[in-house]
Amino acid sequence: MPGHLSMEEVYRHACEVIPGGVNSPVRAFGSVGGTPVFLASASGPHVVDIEGREYVDLVCSWGPALLGHAHPEVVAAVQDAATRGLSFGAPTTAEVQLAELIRGRVPAAEKVRFVSTGTEATMTALRIARGATGRDVIVKFAGCYHGHSDALLAEAGSGVATAGLPGSAGVTKASAGDTIVLPYNDVAALEAVFAERGSEIACVISEAAPANMGIVTPLPGFNEAIRRITAAHGALMILDEVLTGFRVGPSGWWGLEAGVQNPTYTPDLFAFGKVVGGGMPLAGLGGPAALMDLLAPVGPVYQAGTLSGNPLATAAGIATLTLADAAAYAQVDAASLTVQRALADALDAVGVPHRIQTAGNLFSVFFGEDAAARGVATYSDAKAADTFRYPPFFHAMLDAGVALPPSVFEAWFLSAAHDDAALNRIAEALPSAARAAASA
Ligand code: PMP
Repeated sequence: MPGHLSMEEVYRHACEVIPGGVNSPVRAFGSVGGTPVFLASASGPHVVDIEGREYVDLVCSWGPALLGHAHPEVVAAVQDAATRGLSFGAPTTAEVQLAELIRGRVPAAEKVRFVSTGTEATMTALRIARGATGRDVIVKFAGCYHGHSDALLAEAGSGVATAGLPGSAGVTKASAGDTIVLPYNDVAALEAVFAERGSEIACVISEAAPANMGIVTPLPGFNEAIRRITAAHGALMILDEVLTGFRVGPSGWWGLEAGVQNPTYTPDLFAFGKVVGGGMPLAGLGGPAALMDLLAPVGPVYQAGTLSGNPLATAAGIATLTLADAAAYAQVDAASLTVQRALADALDAVGVPHRIQTAGNLFSVFFGEDAAARGVATYSDAKAADTFRYPPFFHAMLDAGVALPPSVFEAWFLSAAHDDAALNRIAEALPSAARAAASA
């Protein structure tokens, strides 16, 4: 395709050969309107579109770019790996090294199985839970997103929430029928369902801190309650840290909330993704040896992947986790706080009621009186917020050169590369975007 086509022309062409012109629905501008921005390159805190326009990026590839885009040492590690072969379909020492790096940060992940996507990580975790317990039913929470496997699409967050869908066509009744969906943060609902059907439930899966219906921080004790109730009924607790893992801190949300030494709770299985692959297709699941060894070839739960533990992805993961030290997390945290403050100031200045909710360095904004007064604890609360204020806000930011996630239900992602210049550009863009939100 010639390089001089406009964004609209490329988009039109893309729509002829790719459904909706995108390979993941969250990239479309469905809820904000307009033409999705086609990107050509990215570096540090910036992305550059095919017309040569540079934006400060607050999407960070939906999480992986913790160190900023194309960190030179990560790129060098991938280039070096590439010279030695793109894919072997045989085990490598690098996979062992990455598993050890993960276990060093999350000791309960005694063994790790690598896959290519977060979807596979949670899907496999469910299969282990069902294999371990001999039970069929799984419990998830409304507004949580765990990838696009059949069992987990009911009342899912992320793109499913953005599109306002209850689930997906093409999921069998049998598959959907084995999934119970409960309101998030509701311990009483969880207790009630276990009192009634506890002996049928294989597992409860939850985002460690939900970030796919906007940020909905777990109320104090909620994750502990999931642990207590599942354990009492012989069900597994699966903590989905695909988005939060290695991003909100060295040991993910679990590390922040439970504490790594003498944790207040530990799930049976963790799902990891995004940062762990440093921007390459890599995800994983981890847990105690007794559970993980249920997987083939040791145990009877089958799971496999031609590209699992791919050497380029593994190299990116090792480089990223090695570079993601305390100083890097401190930088991401500080950048996040700076943007949160600037956002609150801009919205306050024009009198837009709002609530910024956080999970470590992740945050999102909910507009509206109710959200401001009471906060957002459930998917219903998130949907009831003034979502109509987001599209004009989003486009004003984009016009000013700041790329936000194109949905109010997604988190804002900072990186260790968001320096003062990038943060200043965000701060300068916010007042006019806040005015656009106010007049929506
Ligand atoms: N779990 C969570 C919490 C996620 O945020 C995501 C993706 N946004 C997934 C699972 C699925 O990961 P993937 O898109 O790599 O399949």
